[in-house]
Amino acid sequence: MKRILIIHTGGTISMKENKETGEVNTDDNHPLEEISSFLVGTTIIEDEFLFHLPSPHIRPDHMLMLGRFIHEKLVKEKFDGIVITHGTDTLEETAYFLDLFLQTKKPIIVTGAMRSSNEIGSDGLYNLLTAIRVASCDEAQDKGVLVVMNDEIHTARNVTKTSTSNVATFQSPQYGPIGITTKKDVFFHHKTTSHDSYPIQQISKKVALIKAYAGMDGILIDAARTGGIDGMVIEALGQGNLPPETVGAIKETIQAGIPIVLVSRCYQGIVQDTYSYEGGGRQLRDMGVIFANGLTGPKARIKLMVALEMTNNPIELSPMFSY
Ligand code: ASP
Repeated sequence: MKRILIIHTGGTISMKENKETGEVNTDDNHPLEEISSFLVGTTIIEDEFLFHLPSPHIRPDHMLMLGRFIHEKLVKEKFDGIVITHGTDTLEETAYFLDLFLQTKKPIIVTGAMRSSNEIGSDGLYNLLTAIRVASCDEAQDKGVLVVMNDEIHTARNVTKTSTSNVATFQSPQYGPIGITTKKDVFFHHKTTSHDSYPIQQISKKVALIKAYAGMDGILIDAARTGGIDGMVIEALGQGNLPPETVGAIKETIQAGIPIVLVSRCYQGIVQDTYSYEGGGRQLRDMGVIFANGLTGPKARIKLMVALEMTNNPIELSPMFSY
């Protein structure tokens, strides 16, 4: 029998709908406390209630606390896998942080729900049971942190919430899920690439995330710089280009010793230094902007926060964003 630890952090998966008002909110009686009765004879389940937070209340320091908690549990006790329940709004950021922070081959699975426990078609209990099955699966080992929702298995690196309300919200644009689940089985159909880990001691750096738009100027970049940030991620246009009116603010930011990481606001693809016009990728690269390989803006921000705990030298930071 496998021994699995479930760590609850909150989110809709632990909420109930008020049938009179239609509001959804946290509930003191955790609706998933009954989960063990569904797994009798197959899995030993233990429960820990670390936080009881909607995921917009989750901060990077909560992520680090969760990462340390998992690390200690794995070092001190013989768990075969860990399942984390989490609100879906920031689930991908916590999953990716854990992917960067943890150094374990044991399955670490993050799951959530789009519908609260007493709503018609509630997906919480189903996703939790599926996540436990994946966490108990030998094939799920050494794949980094995985996100299991709606019968699909995604890597923390590639998954993102794509719909505000659909239960099929979690997708991995361009790459797809690495596996699927059925009522009886867990199937993996893609191998994962190796990934880096950063066992940081604290997460204290301020990193701004700014999205580019047609006609953008330097106002937001200047405001972030003068507001006392340690790093900046810009979701650039297309292959990694910005309007020319931003160039002055970018130069000043880099000269101030604040690293800038570039991703694309496109749904798919990788930024490249293709265009040499004013504000084009070639010019940005020459100015010292760091290009991130295929991460979304929120994930590049998590990675920069983690990386800045080790260095703020762009020459050392740049290779960390190349995979
Ligand atoms: N707003 C909720 C949260 O992230 C959504 C959810 O859990 O699905 O906490």
